[in-house]
Amino acid sequence: MTNPRVAVFGAGAFGVWTALELVRRGAVVTLVDPWGPGNARASSGGRTRVIRATYGSHVVYTRMAVRALKRWREYDTQWKAGLLRQTGALWLLGADTSFGDASAKTLRDEGISLDEVGLPDAERRFPQIAFEGISRVLFEPDAGYLFASRACAHVADRVVVEGGSYRQAAAASPVAIDGRGVGLADGSSLDADCFVFTCGPWLGTLFPDIVGSLVTPTRQEVYYFGVPAGDMRFASPALPVWLDCGEQFTYGMPADDGHGFKFADDTPGAVIDPTSDERMPTTEGVERASRYLAGRFPALRGAPLVGSEVCQYESTPDSHFLIDRHPREQRVWIAGGGSGHGFKMGPAIGEILAALVLGESTPDPRFTLERFKTPPTGGWAPKWS
Ligand SMILES: Cc1cc2nc3c(=O)[nH]c(=O)nc-3n(C[C@H](O)[C@H](O)[C@H](O)COP(=O)(O)OP(=O)(O)OC[C@H]3O[C@@H](n4cnc5c(N)ncnc54)[C@H](O)[C@@H]3O)c2cc1C
Repeated sequence: MTNPRVAVFGAGAFGVWTALELVRRGAVVTLVDPWGPGNARASSGGRTRVIRATYGSHVVYTRMAVRALKRWREYDTQWKAGLLRQTGALWLLGADTSFGDASAKTLRDEGISLDEVGLPDAERRFPQIAFEGISRVLFEPDAGYLFASRACAHVADRVVVEGGSYRQAAAASPVAIDGRGVGLADGSSLDADCFVFTCGPWLGTLFPDIVGSLVTPTRQEVYYFGVPAGDMRFASPALPVWLDCGEQFTYGMPADDGHGFKFADDTPGAVIDPTSDERMPTTEGVERASRYLAGRFPALRGAPLVGSEVCQYESTPDSHFLIDRHPREQRVWIAGGGSGHGFKMGPAIGEILAALVLGESTPDPRFTLERFKTPPTGGWAPKWS
């Protein structure tokens, strides 16, 4: 079909990039979201996200991240939007170095830089970090961070500039499709030749019989701490993105833009309703974060909390993405399950989904619904790292 009409529901990272790619390939695209691209309830909301290619032995994600980074870089240069900052990423490994070992091998095999930094050298280069409990340090020079909500809004604008349209509306939940197209929450319908649902943590309720609990939204708190006045030790280039794979997986971003020093804990929180739950941080969470900072970044002991975000992961049982055709509705595609690592992949996901929708490829079995039919012996092993 030339110039098919495609409705993309959900203007988070997965949806905006899919819509842009489809527009560029000649489709007539309508991008739909109830609250706007990268809104405060979306998993793509908030200020920033890490982009890195280190994925243990999961070469499929390493390649996807490399592809996505190339596209982020190209588009950002072309748009002059300042969505990407390549600060590099500092990996702090604890007693268990298996993730670092596997990542180093994968990156080496793929010809991507990942530098081993000796501990004495790391202490010299990063005196603002206390390296207690750290056995090895790796530096990934091409990594960095992306502006999240702002990028979604920018890419959605590009969709419109390049000929697509944007509509503030919601698909009725659960999704109902008839001869008039997809039912909307206001009682009207939206018709198209194909429908793409990139609704992140809402996919389970939109498709209860197909997705259901296979995409589970969990509450994730993100904190911003104030750094001492005029102190550049916590901004890039003195401090890159850092990821601490010690007892718990925690990470943060340099305080580059006046919003403070970002800190987050990757441990999945309680299940959240992304539509109705409040977005206030918990006292315990803030205290835990302060304690961590005092240990790892001693000059930030007692630093005031200057901002916070409560977001959600939308995780699958194995933390792998979900990208598949609806098993009964040939015109419907479903993509999500970013599982705490989907944002960076936006441009690559857009290319994958556009090729599927336009009939140029078939779903990768690693990402299909079919894989959930036969859980591995011993159960799912969440988090690929
Ligand atoms: C705290 C935190 C830290 C993270 N860190 C990283 C990181 O460092 N690097 C990384 O790569 N990833 C990271 N992630 C994961 C990443 O942000 C997500 O996987 C990704 O943003 C998911 O994008 P999405 O488009 O699938 O979903 P979303 O961004 O949630 O988009 C779904 C959209 O669907 C819309 N919608 C809802 N209902 C309807 C409806 N009925 N009709 C139409 N539209 C609807 C919503 O409004 C929303 O805009 C992190 C996530 C969180 C929460």
